[in-house]
Amino acid sequence: MKQKRFFLSEAELPKQWYNIQAEMPTKPMPMKHPQTGEVMSAEDLYPIFCEECARQEMNMQDAWIDIPEKVREMYTYYRSTPLVRAYGLEEALGTPAHIYFKNESVSPIGSHKLNSALAQAYYCKQEGVTNITTETGAGQWGTALSYAAKIFGLEAAVYQVKITYEQKPYRRSAMQVFGAQVTASPSMSTRAGKDILTKTPNHQGSLGTAISEAVELARMTPNCKYTLGSVMSHVTLHQTVIGLEAEKQMEMAGEYPDMVIACFGGGSNFGGLAFPFMRHNFKDGKKTRFIAAEPSSCPKLSKGKFVYDFGDEAGYTPLMPMFSLGHKFAPANIHAGGLRYHGAGVVVSQLLKDGFMEAMDIPQLESFDAGMLFARAEGIIPAPESCHAIAATIREAKKCIETGEEKVILFNLSGHGLIDMPSYDQYISGNLHDYNLSDEDVEKCVAKL
Ligand SMILES: *Cc1c(COP(=O)(O)O)cnc(C)c1O
Repeated sequence: MKQKRFFLSEAELPKQWYNIQAEMPTKPMPMKHPQTGEVMSAEDLYPIFCEECARQEMNMQDAWIDIPEKVREMYTYYRSTPLVRAYGLEEALGTPAHIYFKNESVSPIGSHKLNSALAQAYYCKQEGVTNITTETGAGQWGTALSYAAKIFGLEAAVYQVKITYEQKPYRRSAMQVFGAQVTASPSMSTRAGKDILTKTPNHQGSLGTAISEAVELARMTPNCKYTLGSVMSHVTLHQTVIGLEAEKQMEMAGEYPDMVIACFGGGSNFGGLAFPFMRHNFKDGKKTRFIAAEPSSCPKLSKGKFVYDFGDEAGYTPLMPMFSLGHKFAPANIHAGGLRYHGAGVVVSQLLKDGFMEAMDIPQLESFDAGMLFARAEGIIPAPESCHAIAATIREAKKCIETGEEKVILFNLSGHGLIDMPSYDQYISGNLHDYNLSDEDVEKCVAKL
């Protein structure tokens, strides 16, 4: 069978992002101030985020937001990304389903994260910001941001969770190649870091400690802003370039998806692919199913509770209405680092609550089984995060074998796994395990909320 890949010409690339907040049947509930509990406005976020991102975060009116020309120009370096008919995977499974994937792993840094990093760095530059800061867990976001900062002439300071700083040295080197200053968190360079280290001298760090340090740096440094790689609505907005391209590419393929599937950390690659299609469920009576694939060890969507919770461990961020396992939840050390987060974005949380999407939780071993099968069938080694989307796709494609239905499934390949080979190494040598949370464990975390 000849491979089928679909690309868009430069003229066909999206000129606007899709802001689902303007068209959701029920709007997300507002963020609240961490101390006073008062409803927050965009202005309240200006001390930390760049102003345009803060306004986009709160924008409930405009369904379409222009992509700045300079950002579109940078997108042409790697977009459109291919939409691929996965004949190899279909054949390996023996399924009548038609499987397509959007390949975001072809971006220069190997994942979808660059789509938002470029936008955030651009807006910061426009507003006269000189330094940007962020946290990174597994390192994909830190890498994307470091490169975007270099493009727009900004200094980047990245706080990397100490344990990954030590265990994943290649991510750190990648950030340093792009000129970023990388600090293992907790560090002695911030008040928050000093407090943590004096209390717990050998602290291994977490996303929570790294967020606290980055936010503090942004607060205390003139012309320095904080950036985030997921969870926030403006990040998912930037990622809709994925779904808007895919919509046109599916049209070129002459099909429309019955199911749209993506892995889920904070929701940005899921929302990025899904929202432009979900729009047609709202408006045109389409019945597409949207499935977010999360790890069984961190099942905030399938087992979490819808509550107001903090985005970080220390409780510095605004309170957000979201599905959460609790901001003190400590996920097991699974290899899909990008999916180890306790909460979900507010937009996705509302959509799940209203029944517009579903969640599926995938054990670690099943995710790597799926990744191995995909790699052997399609020749691409997927990121451990993306393996969750592939596993969910395989579950659905296998159902089609039983029913004989030719369902059209579209999933997002959010990144490649070429810097994650130690995880595959562990899988191959049989040292990888499942961490299944019992309902009791979940109940204990959620009961504190
Ligand atoms: C960060 C990351 C994710 C998870 O983040 P989302 O915001 O949920 O998309 C998924 N896949 C890859 C490759 C990542 O780098």
